[in-house]
Amino acid sequence: MSCCQMPERENRPYTFLRLTQSTCPECLQLVHTRVVMESGRVYFLKTCPDHGASKALVSEDAASYQKAWRYVRPGSVPLKFQTAANKGCPHDCGLCPSHQQHTCLPIIEITDHCNLSCPVCIADNKNSRHMTLSEFKKIIDRLIEQEGYLETITLSGGEPTRHPEFLKLVDLAKDRAEIGRVSVVTNGIELAHSKKLCEELKKRNVYVVLQTDGFDDAVHQKIRGRALCGIKEKALASLAEYDVSTQIIFVAVRGINEGEIKKAIDLLLAHDHILSLMIQPVSYSGRGGAKFPHDPLNRLTIPGVLKILEEQTGGLLTAGDFFPLPCPHPLCVTLTYLLKLDDGSYIPFPRFLDMNKYLHLFEQSAMLGSDTHTENAIKTAIDDLWSAKGEIPDNQKVLKALKKALLEMYPPKTITRDELMRVTERKAKTVFIHHYMDRHDFDLERLVKCCHHYPLNDGRVMPACSYNMFCRGTAL
Ligand code: SF4
Ligand code: SF4
Repeated sequence: MSCCQMPERENRPYTFLRLTQSTCPECLQLVHTRVVMESGRVYFLKTCPDHGASKALVSEDAASYQKAWRYVRPGSVPLKFQTAANKGCPHDCGLCPSHQQHTCLPIIEITDHCNLSCPVCIADNKNSRHMTLSEFKKIIDRLIEQEGYLETITLSGGEPTRHPEFLKLVDLAKDRAEIGRVSVVTNGIELAHSKKLCEELKKRNVYVVLQTDGFDDAVHQKIRGRALCGIKEKALASLAEYDVSTQIIFVAVRGINEGEIKKAIDLLLAHDHILSLMIQPVSYSGRGGAKFPHDPLNRLTIPGVLKILEEQTGGLLTAGDFFPLPCPHPLCVTLTYLLKLDDGSYIPFPRFLDMNKYLHLFEQSAMLGSDTHTENAIKTAIDDLWSAKGEIPDNQKVLKALKKALLEMYPPKTITRDELMRVTERKAKTVFIHHYMDRHDFDLERLVKCCHHYPLNDGRVMPACSYNMFCRGTAL
């Protein structure tokens, strides 16, 4: 056969990138998965022996998906593992000795009672039980044994403020010198109704993580099942009155509230006590989330949120201002820090710093530390800015803000670790984008580097996506 008679080969419509294991969206069994690039996006192609082929969108921008791999860094091993590595991931969770990152954010579900029933909820709230004080204490003891020191622990639920001994649990955690900070994830209903609760949280220097997914009752109705604007306003007003350190969590759902992300940025920048904003592209997992109407081929992913931020903030934030967090798998969380200048405006760190030089600060945590590594990094940044005079916009203003930060964060007199963290966080606000996985985009490779964990009563410390997908109401 001469070459001109060669049969025509069919061209595949995609470019193959890598192989991983994901889940069949019907039955959750692990299936070999081809990761492919098509029309500038990244998809999973899976075949389940029982349910056939499926396709899921994983990233709306193939270039940023590929760029994330440059941020892979070594993890750090916990002091103690709770399970053995026998059957492989995720059956051995956790943490088993094969896991690649320690617990930097333990999330303790202290109750399964909730005063909402959100259509997007990932939890399986049965309104049946509260964690006892002794169970809580055991979990804290085990975590300390596992980690030595915990920068933060988060109390969650259900709605944690519904726990009848909620403040006692907070006190148990606050009493431990090995715990830096206690934070509480809440829908804000109790805070809206009780200034006293806000006052108590302030007294204990608790961080409040307030769900606020929109600024329109129609949005709340769709996502949370109830018109909540009034509640959120009241809760925010009380948190402001008592100057409680606050993070806003915004669950972003394609076609429902993506138009309101800019308002969440405005909220973050308008108030001193609001230290960070966590945008979470919705995960179609759990009691509510899995059933929430969605199209796995047209959903929000991290690059989609970045594009929205760029469009809605008129250049205040651009995709280039963000970088993947190397502490978990870099496809899980993307973030930026915003430095406050003297005139009240904000500038993202990557506009005046080469973040690649400082990635080692974020290998084990997303928080700007109060340690000598951070102090030295700020000093180096000041030196670099001096030598780059004129090349960086607002160079002088940034220099002034950094020098002031340095003085306040590391004063000649000794200040407590708590005070130091407080000063540090008020110097730079953070915008995180954290994409929890679900049955469509689950990627076993990401799970193995997870650093957000649920400690359970039975002694296991479960990577959050493993717990959400395989344990809540589903036997693994
Ligand atoms: S995800 Fe981590 S903890 Fe779970 S089985 Fe795999 S290595 Fe072990
Ligand atoms: S919870 Fe899920 S998305 Fe978040 S770090 Fe862990 S594996 Fe990644």
